[in-house]
Amino acid sequence: MEIVKDLKYLRQPCKEAQETDQVKDIAKMLLQEMETHQLLGLAANQFGVQLRIFAMRMDPGTPICLINPTIVRSYGGSELKEEACESLPGRMAMVRRPKKVKVRGWNQYWRRVKYELTGRQARVACHELDHLQGVLIIDREEPVGVGNRLIGRPSSSGLQYERSEPV
Ligand SMILES: [Zn+2]
Repeated sequence: MEIVKDLKYLRQPCKEAQETDQVKDIAKMLLQEMETHQLLGLAANQFGVQLRIFAMRMDPGTPICLINPTIVRSYGGSELKEEACESLPGRMAMVRRPKKVKVRGWNQYWRRVKYELTGRQARVACHELDHLQGVLIIDREEPVGVGNRLIGRPSSSGLQYERSEPV
């Protein structure tokens, strides 16, 4: 399957999924597609399914899938880092994310699951949850400016900036 890149479509929030065999199959398909495309994470609407389901890779560990996910807690402060998105080829954005999140939902067998994620995994989960709400990295992009004591903007060829001195 092809990854959706149509922003008009990606900006539509997804609906809650019901407990059906079809939904469980979609969850399993997402896990498979994530492997096939070697992605860190994948939201259902990136595959043309408008349901609240995403898959992500655990490091280390087996990939996980979350149906109707919610972040129940964000903690440990936040971090501003460069992020990319499969649906926005070549585009990078500096996005602030919590360092730690507690996320809850159902897995592909419709069992209740809860994960505590940190660092990159917390970032990926937030990115995918944003997708399900129709939010993209370009909507969250923070200008790299005086407030962050960085000059310049991130570019697809890598982050180019200079540190400025505090005044
Ligand atoms: Zn994305």
